[in-house]
Amino acid sequence: MTCPVCGKEAEAKYRPFCSRRCADVDLGRWLTGGYAIPAGAAEDVDGDGHGDGDGEEKAPRPRPQ
Ligand SMILES: [Zn+2]
Repeated sequence: MTCPVCGKEAEAKYRPFCSRRCADVDLGRWLTGGYAIPAGAAEDVDGDGHGDGDGEEKAPRPRPQ
């Protein structure tokens, strides 16, 4: 088995990685990807908030004429 990070021979102690560093690199990728998705969703929610503002503008308002 080879390290999925750098392709070196995997070390049993750090399987499937070759070293603690590569395990951390992979973990960092997972964490980054894991946080990226909720963060993006949060941004979307924020965007929806602005969208609500637009909806409010589009909503029919009684205009005194
Ligand atoms: Zn490695």
